[in-house]
Amino acid sequence: MESRENIGFPEVTLRLPGWVEALVAEENRTYPTVEERMRFAVGLSRLNVRNGTGGPFGAAVFERETGRLLAPGVNLVVGSGCSVFHAEMVAIMVAQKAVGTFDLGGESLPDYELVATTEPCAMCLGATPWSGVRHLVCGARDEDARAVGFDEGVKPEFWVGALEDRGITVERDVLREEAAGVLREYAERGGRDLQLPPGRRPAVILEVALLDVLPGRTGEFEKAFAEASKIIASAPGHLSHELQRCVETPERYVLLVRWETLEDHTECFRGSDAYREWKRLLHHFYAPFPTVQHFEPVG
Ligand SMILES: [Zn+2]
Repeated sequence: MESRENIGFPEVTLRLPGWVEALVAEENRTYPTVEERMRFAVGLSRLNVRNGTGGPFGAAVFERETGRLLAPGVNLVVGSGCSVFHAEMVAIMVAQKAVGTFDLGGESLPDYELVATTEPCAMCLGATPWSGVRHLVCGARDEDARAVGFDEGVKPEFWVGALEDRGITVERDVLREEAAGVLREYAERGGRDLQLPPGRRPAVILEVALLDVLPGRTGEFEKAFAEASKIIASAPGHLSHELQRCVETPERYVLLVRWETLEDHTECFRGSDAYREWKRLLHHFYAPFPTVQHFEPVG
């Protein structure tokens, strides 16, 4: 009998691009609202194009109750040479490996939700019931993808009802404009033109700010930050952020914000009305005024 190595057929592997790993490096990150989950997926779709790793589609599997991210997915068709590597399929495959079962709907498991930046094509629609997810959230409509030339395949007209008959609830049009905007931008610029020039580092910029808060004001500051948090979370190009308190110096905090590009922070956010509100909420707590630096992935 021949050993497996001698059979001669290739192994098929699925690996998420490095920038996805960098993006979700924060452990146990949760996305409480459906909009936050979709904003994350739309960020994936945009970054997938900018980084030249695939088409303008993103998806992710979340624990429905807690909003914990289980698995991200992006379209990897061209780079992998695999027609089935649509964002939803990738997210489902990574999720099933993470949980260790082919059925995400298994009895002892929490309910899982698939969030996709575009309504499913015929293939992903077919794959959804077998994945075990209990809820599907879509951004752009099927017609938004077809309008810019993507092939969605032959789908039953009443596909939403067909999924619901199989116990999968469907929520549509979540940040539809934002999600469809990525598709249109991709199509208008001829797809590949949106990608970074060769040699440019992948996107995902980490902003690091050391914040020294006036003694005795940390409680107020943390409350104000909770409010300001919503402002930065809805800024274009914002991917994630976190605030941590220093163990040795209790008035010191570090703010880490991940942006798609440097300009998303330095130009878009700082030039926005939202930033004026951010300043009003937070800037009077600082002494001295913080220095901010930006970091990019190594290698
Ligand atoms: Zn698909």
